[in-house]
Amino acid sequence: MNRRKLLTMGSALIASKLDSRTASGDAKEALSIEQFQPRSMLHAPETKVARAAYPVIDIHTHITHAGGLEGPGTIHFAASAEECLAVMNRKNIRTMVNLTGGYGANLQQVIEKLPAAHPDRFVVFTEPAWSKAADPDYPRVQADLIEDAHRRGAKGLKVLKTLGLYLRENVTAGKLVSIDDRRFDPMWEAAGSLNMPVAIHSSDPEAFFLPIDRFNERWEELHAHPDWSFYGKDFPSNRELQEARRNIMRRHPRTHFVCLHVADSEDLGYVAECLDSHPNMHVEIAARIGELGRQPRASYQFIEKYQDRVMFGTDAVPGGEETPQQVFNDQLYEIYYRFLETKDEYFDYAPAPVPPQGRWRIYGIGLTDQMLRKVYSENAARLLGLSA
Ligand SMILES: [Zn+2]
Repeated sequence: MNRRKLLTMGSALIASKLDSRTASGDAKEALSIEQFQPRSMLHAPETKVARAAYPVIDIHTHITHAGGLEGPGTIHFAASAEECLAVMNRKNIRTMVNLTGGYGANLQQVIEKLPAAHPDRFVVFTEPAWSKAADPDYPRVQADLIEDAHRRGAKGLKVLKTLGLYLRENVTAGKLVSIDDRRFDPMWEAAGSLNMPVAIHSSDPEAFFLPIDRFNERWEELHAHPDWSFYGKDFPSNRELQEARRNIMRRHPRTHFVCLHVADSEDLGYVAECLDSHPNMHVEIAARIGELGRQPRASYQFIEKYQDRVMFGTDAVPGGEETPQQVFNDQLYEIYYRFLETKDEYFDYAPAPVPPQGRWRIYGIGLTDQMLRKVYSENAARLLGLSA
């Protein structure tokens, strides 16, 4: 039996005892970290922001997904357009950008059901054909697929962390393929020449590259998702991944890159240095308000300085229950709006009994109206060629 199974069994055992123990309130009994759910006794004001102050373009959502390294598979819709629109209308979301639209026939289906049926409410990005990446003619085939996606109506290209952390020389076996591998040059160039921005997720929080031990501030998150750990084996460090991403931004100055999850939300100094040296770089904030909100002063200054290049995103997944910080629902957007619009203090960054990415709470940064308009939609509208 592996360590993970043992731990899961352990937590189940603990959970069965949970009610009696909390009821008994025996202060001398040991308490496991999973059971600890402290409630803040701070009498801090709570501002409910039910609707965004200005219309929103959510540039990072996953309404659909298709196969990965194994091939295109069939496209799966996590929610219908109507289900999305109900939340969007309540929350003042003008447009959802569905990044994982696949390619070819899958992409066609997504475009027909989303943007073609509801113009301006949905935008769809295409994805690379990873399963073909070892084919000798891949560079040309992939560039052609980008043109095909553009003709079908895709507005951009999404590159998951598959590139850098999963894709290998023989697709699923062999050496890891680097983000700046030359075989992708025609793909980046095609995207640039067609004015399709590239939304790219490279690397992850630093804790994902460190041992899952008592010093790891994301122990509970990694314990719940051990497959998110890139510690050891042949994985590059997160800085090596980020520097490889910089190489492609350098080599393809006409292509616009949206570095997802703030590029590196734990090191805003590094992100600022990258933004200063690469005018074709942009960032969005999805699934990182936990990081931005625990350094509210630095985050405010960062967004103020780069207010024309920061975009609103959530990484929302309809029904994605196992990642509470990403479930597509009203509550998720209310937390983002509260973070951006208010100066409320010490609140949860995700609707969950225990903060799912780490045990801390966040502070609102109260952006100005001008900054809100830019971050909520103007920057994304400009990049995606949508009307303001
Ligand atoms: Zn995502």
